[in-house]
Amino acid sequence: MTQNQAHDAQVYDAVVVGGGLIGCAVALMLADGGMSVAVLERRESLCLEASGTNAGGLMSQVLRAETVPHGMRALELWKGKTAPFLFDLDYHRLGSLALARTEAEESILDERMRLRNEAGASFRMMSGAEARLIEPQLSKDIRAAVHCEADAHVNSLETGRVFTELLGRHCVAIKARHNVSMIEPGGAGFACICPRGVVRGRRLVLATNARLQPLLAQLGHSVEITPRYNQVLVTNRLPFHLGPMLTIATGNLSIKRSAAGTAIIGGGWQGHGDLEAGTSRIDAPSVLENLRLAVSVVPALGDQDLIRCWIGVDARTPDFRPLLGPVPNCPEAYVAGCVFSGYLPGLQLGRMLGDIILGREPDLAFPPSSAWTNPDTLSLKKNL
Ligand SMILES: Cc1cc2nc3c(=O)[nH]c(=O)nc-3n(C[C@H](O)[C@H](O)[C@H](O)COP(=O)(O)OP(=O)(O)OC[C@H]3O[C@@H](n4cnc5c(N)ncnc54)[C@H](O)[C@@H]3O)c2cc1C
Repeated sequence: MTQNQAHDAQVYDAVVVGGGLIGCAVALMLADGGMSVAVLERRESLCLEASGTNAGGLMSQVLRAETVPHGMRALELWKGKTAPFLFDLDYHRLGSLALARTEAEESILDERMRLRNEAGASFRMMSGAEARLIEPQLSKDIRAAVHCEADAHVNSLETGRVFTELLGRHCVAIKARHNVSMIEPGGAGFACICPRGVVRGRRLVLATNARLQPLLAQLGHSVEITPRYNQVLVTNRLPFHLGPMLTIATGNLSIKRSAAGTAIIGGGWQGHGDLEAGTSRIDAPSVLENLRLAVSVVPALGDQDLIRCWIGVDARTPDFRPLLGPVPNCPEAYVAGCVFSGYLPGLQLGRMLGDIILGREPDLAFPPSSAWTNPDTLSLKKNL
């Protein structure tokens, strides 16, 4: 151990590696359930990656059908009034409209709505004219829409501050600038090794999202994870109102009005990045395409200025399913990450993983987890 390393003599009941939304939610549940918990985060504070750079859209309309029930439960939690999730993140129930411009898009919407309503959503299909009564700024080219009244928006940029306070109140040890490079299972738990020192826990939760691969490999599991460099665009303050959040049938557009009155535009358009170097770069052509698409849906956006773009890194598995639950063949190790559009359902999924670790029955079944590439790990699917 070097002079810069500080050995933490305590053995925590649980060590959570990765202080994004899901890691924080699990840590909060465990601490609330009476465990001593440490969160190890490589960055200088919590939720600086996907969980603090996303667009704050709580849109059950864009979820995969299998995570709709979790998204619906999470919409309740995001109000910030259910213990231990007591916080204020500027929650606004704006509702959302998913839009169709062509006959083909209309049938995609119809099918998506059917599957999601079967999974517990309450979405309603309507004509373009009816959608324009809800949102008069919509283009005349919109021929149909699906409306969800329950969808909402929060100020995601404050996620880290809110969870730092919440975890602090629950006596969770938050260890920022702790980049875990190695995990040694053995003895009565796990040793998490970082340049700053070693932190030990009887249980281990891996919640490092885009950076799950190397840590899972150390536990003997090979997984394929692709980083996603999502771009977010922000306009000047709009001189008009935008009510519901908007998306389109193909899914590659989201538009919402922030509490500050700007339009936040996204939809998964990709920039460039290097996970090792921790760098990212805007892709100008895809910014333009994203803006063109936004203007085709809300023409008045064409008169506004683009004042800011940023990139956040997220991750996906080949089948877009999350990695979630106990790590096979590794008792007391758990994983949570690669959740598609995971800010909304992340709170509920974190709560459920917390319940599992505390030995409680979760209030919903887990959504199907991704098939890991190591055949030995396929048993995870059965476990869930
Ligand atoms: C730009 C963008 C826009 C998005 N918009 C939306 C949206 O509007 N609605 C929605 O529902 N979802 C959205 N998402 C997706 C959503 O933000 C993510 O799915 C979710 O936040 C993931 O949470 P997480 O906790 O799994 O991961 P993260 O927030 O990425 O957290 C992982 C944490 O682990 C830390 N870490 C990594 N490796 C190590 C290590 N070795 N040691 C210690 N710490 C480590 C990281 O620094 C990070 O803080 C968006 C994502 C992006 C990037």
